[in-house]
Amino acid sequence: MKHFVPLYFLCCLSFQVAKAQRNCASHEYLQQQLQRDPLLAQRIAAIESFQGRDVMLNGAEAPTPAVIKIPVVVHVLFNTSGQNISDAQIKSQIDVLNKDFRRLNTDTVNTPLMFKHLAADCQLQFELAKIDPDGRATTGITRKATSIMMYGLDDRIKFTSKGGLDAWDPDRYLNIWVGNLAGGLLGYASTLGCDKSIDGVAISPSAFGTIGAAGAPFNGGRTATHEIGHWLGLRHIWGDSYCGDDQIDDTPPQRSATRKCPTGVIITCENNPYGDMYNNFMDLTDDACMNLFTAGQRNKMRQLFQPGGVRHALLSSNALTATPITDPVRPIEEPVVLASNTVKVYPNPAITTITIEGKDGELVGKTVTIRNHLGQLAVQAKITKGNMPISVQHLRDGMYFIRIEGSGEVIKLLKGK
Ligand SMILES: [Zn+2]
Repeated sequence: MKHFVPLYFLCCLSFQVAKAQRNCASHEYLQQQLQRDPLLAQRIAAIESFQGRDVMLNGAEAPTPAVIKIPVVVHVLFNTSGQNISDAQIKSQIDVLNKDFRRLNTDTVNTPLMFKHLAADCQLQFELAKIDPDGRATTGITRKATSIMMYGLDDRIKFTSKGGLDAWDPDRYLNIWVGNLAGGLLGYASTLGCDKSIDGVAISPSAFGTIGAAGAPFNGGRTATHEIGHWLGLRHIWGDSYCGDDQIDDTPPQRSATRKCPTGVIITCENNPYGDMYNNFMDLTDDACMNLFTAGQRNKMRQLFQPGGVRHALLSSNALTATPITDPVRPIEEPVVLASNTVKVYPNPAITTITIEGKDGELVGKTVTIRNHLGQLAVQAKITKGNMPISVQHLRDGMYFIRIEGSGEVIKLLKGK
């Protein structure tokens, strides 16, 4: 799914600034993904079948927690200082999500009377992760300067090797990438059933949160609300086709997307007397004009957290609750030089790379750690071959201590000339 803002343009002799309007190319993005992955269509069909149509509307809810907490990691990619958005801007976005998905948003008063009874508290909450994938404490925010001026729908933003930042395990985190998106793109969400490496949503800094780099009319945090709706399997309210089907029974049929900020009843697709539900978060109106998810949408999103659902694993994430691994300063053990006939480390001193060599491949499968003089972990690696090269280029010059799993002995390593 993606959202375009038309370029501001000049016309004739006077300046005419076209008011930015939300757009979305979910179909185009989906087609791209389907071409790349021939089995994606099957996976999407299976997931949508699992989600069902208005599941649980008439039955007892299956045993998921009343309120589902979703750990979030925000990856910030910046080419300019303005794109390096503040922690406060990120937190303003989390606040919006926690209002919109709990129906605590102050603009619920703007939900038209005829739709108010359909509006739902989705009982989904979002919180920046406290534990990173290695088990260490985190703010739930990662940052990286990049030479890339604009990211496209090619998902480069999601790969460290391509100038972005790698996803954290989507079974434990909702990944949100914030970076400058090409062509006025506001944001896009991954498709259900996608590869784990691209699972999450990407949002422009100008449409993220409510302060800082966020700009009107998309400074209400609703781009993320909308994209996370997609991430949880919601379609656009018009079903991405003329009077199409969004597979939700309590959203009226609707001819197409609604933009900007209309008022009054708009009748399309014989949806009288109440008309289009253009205040729905899954339409394309401005941030100030969208204010509800329906019960049907709520149930469809929450169904993914049921056993067998693609978001079920998130319920077991310990990213908000685990005790972080601390790597305390350790007393330095008296270094013991290993007998050279068991393990060799060379060169030593080293500048760029060392090789760890055991006899007859006996070290393969073991973990090697390199700690500095304070006992802090500098390198940890699994030994995969008899002559194992390990980069030490990033280490500061000084003394280090190498330990190999299962051995109480320590090898001294001097980094530097
Ligand atoms: Zn969309």
